[in-house]
Amino acid sequence: MPNVTIAKPRDSVDQDQFLTILSREDAIARFEAALFPRNIPSERKSLADALGHALAADIVAPIDVPPFDRSNVDGFAVRSADLAGAGESVPVRIALNDEMIACGTAPVQPVLTGTATSIATGGPVPRGADAIIMVEHTQPLGTDAIEIRRAALPGQFVSYAGSDIARGETLLRAGTMIGSREIGMLAACGIAHVAVVRRPRVAVMSTGDELVQPGETLRPAAIYDTNGAIVTAAVTENGGDPLFLGAIADDEQVLETAMRKALETCDMLVLSGGTSKGAGDVSHRIIARLGLPGIIAHGVALKPGKPLCLAVCDGTPVVILPGFPTSAMFTFHDILVPILRRLAGLPPRADAQVTAKVPVRIASELGRTEFVMVSLVEADNGLIAYPGGKGSGAITSFAQADGFLRIDALADQILAGTEAVVTLFTPHVRVPDLVIVGSHCTGLDLVTEPLARAGLSVRSISVGSLGGLAAAKRGECDLAPIHLFDEKTESYNTPFLAEGLELVPGWRRMQGIVFRAGDTRFEGLSAQDAVRAAMVDRACIMVNRNQGAGTRILIDRLLGSARPDGYWNQPKSHNAVAAAVGQHRADWGMTIAPVARAAGLGFIPLAEEHYDFAVVTARKQRPAVQAFLAALASPESHAALARAGFRPATAEN
Ligand code: AMP
Ligand code: MG
Repeated sequence: MPNVTIAKPRDSVDQDQFLTILSREDAIARFEAALFPRNIPSERKSLADALGHALAADIVAPIDVPPFDRSNVDGFAVRSADLAGAGESVPVRIALNDEMIACGTAPVQPVLTGTATSIATGGPVPRGADAIIMVEHTQPLGTDAIEIRRAALPGQFVSYAGSDIARGETLLRAGTMIGSREIGMLAACGIAHVAVVRRPRVAVMSTGDELVQPGETLRPAAIYDTNGAIVTAAVTENGGDPLFLGAIADDEQVLETAMRKALETCDMLVLSGGTSKGAGDVSHRIIARLGLPGIIAHGVALKPGKPLCLAVCDGTPVVILPGFPTSAMFTFHDILVPILRRLAGLPPRADAQVTAKVPVRIASELGRTEFVMVSLVEADNGLIAYPGGKGSGAITSFAQADGFLRIDALADQILAGTEAVVTLFTPHVRVPDLVIVGSHCTGLDLVTEPLARAGLSVRSISVGSLGGLAAAKRGECDLAPIHLFDEKTESYNTPFLAEGLELVPGWRRMQGIVFRAGDTRFEGLSAQDAVRAAMVDRACIMVNRNQGAGTRILIDRLLGSARPDGYWNQPKSHNAVAAAVGQHRADWGMTIAPVARAAGLGFIPLAEEHYDFAVVTARKQRPAVQAFLAALASPESHAALARAGFRPATAEN
């Protein structure tokens, strides 16, 4: 991949950064070249302490397991040839040797032809014997003989020496993460201590004057330090031993002191924030003084994640992740995790990647490797990766996201239907039991609550009513919540159903005009009059809704061909509309009554909207769908919906 070299912009003479933007691949290659090969330190641990560490070297089995031919049952050690003619009607009498082989006793007497020795499960098979007869398949004949009425296969119920683990065999490979299973194998071979890779100590620091630690009080204009907690946890998840050092102010001297101190004891230093343009961004300047070779890449053609800074200071990797939490996460997982795992002696994380089909086209910028957050759902023919919000500041999209996909710098899109590799944030796919794709409503959480309590996982992906119907038709979800008004039939939802979908009534939501309580331009008017008045007031700004939203259809009906100021502000949720009005970004918009009420805003009712469920008939019998339908019909959720301001529906209304 070629370097993307961007000339120094003329208006930033005082800005000595982002002179050369490296491609993702170049940045990784240069970083690796500066770090490897290197000596990965190991330490000796007792079995108990080795749990969760990576083996530093291959382990070769020092003994056979079992160490001797061992009986698997309680019974008698025999010569199988003695029983060749035995059968239901042909009993064979075998004389008993004067010995009982218990667990832990070595046999003394050989089993000669026509004799057997009593043996317990786990006992060593005596010389001469080649099979074990279960005690249940024998009859005692006095005290010194038994009768057997069945033949024995040579080797039956015998575990031969080394059949479990053979001496000299490679028992465990270097890089294996030691769990209880591995500890069991080591113990079986008598190994009490192993060499493990010393977990790399990773110092984690956040930077920014605006950062406050969770648990502390948020002051005005401050935000909670998200990266500190995420990076610390992700270091542990990938074999590192994190040392979180808190959020450091944007003060060159304070930060430099903290970084130098961290470098004294740590194998790696990961900062976040302070790498993008801004007077307070000082960490990259400090790095240049901390050791050689210093900065390897500052500015990588990633989206988001361009401000990533990779450095090596006297052998220690120093990384500054971008400040935005999602950007920090993408770059951490894509670029840092492979390095961290190598330092931790772990192999690349194969279990952290799955392939999934992308259901919709995703546009992408040419020249930058783009990361897109995705939620995974199980469709009829495999995994589907739903793209989430692309804003680099959107931490909330984490909640529904399983991982991310990477769009190559040279691609300007991913076509709908493409199979893409998804990197998981946490290496196991959580495929939800119930998948809801469509229009979101806060009432939905009230109905799905009992499912969550019953241990069923619910994934709700908000793509609007039309997007939900399309997903349902493609078999990507169990149900699609919709609220679509059909002008021709003057009815909701039913006219939009396609074959294979059936409508289950949900609830009714009062849609109307939201405004700030006390605003005399709206107070006391009907919705139609309020909108008319707003349109003639040039100072009045509206907030619209996105194309495809049921609410948008209502707004367009009220507005006709008018395009008032604010029309192009088209957020995607009821809550965003209420927030815009509440924060004076707009004066009116359309939302649902419960949302207006929760935000403490004024509300003029316009029309009751039907929020129903298009259920995929082929999936209706699935337990999770049945559980959902039962919850939807239950008196408990009807009461909860009513309390929240919704009117539960029945087939009649
Ligand atoms: P910076 O690179 O410092 O300019 O940060 C870019 C954006 O990320 C700013 O909006 C910061 O407030 C935000 N940010 C930086 N560090 C953190 C952090 N540790 N947690 C949450 N947001 C952060
Ligand atoms: Mg900052």
